Amino acid sequence: MPYKDPERQRSYQIEYGAKLGKLALARLGGPRCVNCGCDDERLLEINHIRGGGRREGHNLRGYDFIHAIATGKRLVEDLEVRCKPCNVLHYVTLRFGDAAANRFRVSWS
Ligand SMILES: [Zn+2]
Repeated sequence: MPYKDPERQRSYQIEYGAKLGKLALARLGGPRCVNCGCDDERLLEINHIRGGGRREGHNLRGYDFIHAIATGKRLVEDLEVRCKPCNVLHYVTLRFGDAAANRFRVSWS
């Protein structure tokens, strides 16, 4: 819905983006990290389980990506919700293997 007032337009976009983000997270099982259980939405990201997220846009600010998930236009079985630290841990696993990743512990309390 377009507004003539740019400030209202901006706040509408932010609100709409937040709604889309919540919908997208809901399709992925809810706003909670699959690894450590973190539920602080500021820290959550959508992770590509098999890697390759850079090609698509991997954080909650990637509008097209989030929109496609929220509206069901994109399948989600290759995606999961992780917090930023666990996303880095996932990267370490893919890049350097379990032996390297197993030396780290991420916990949320
Ligand atoms: Zn986590």
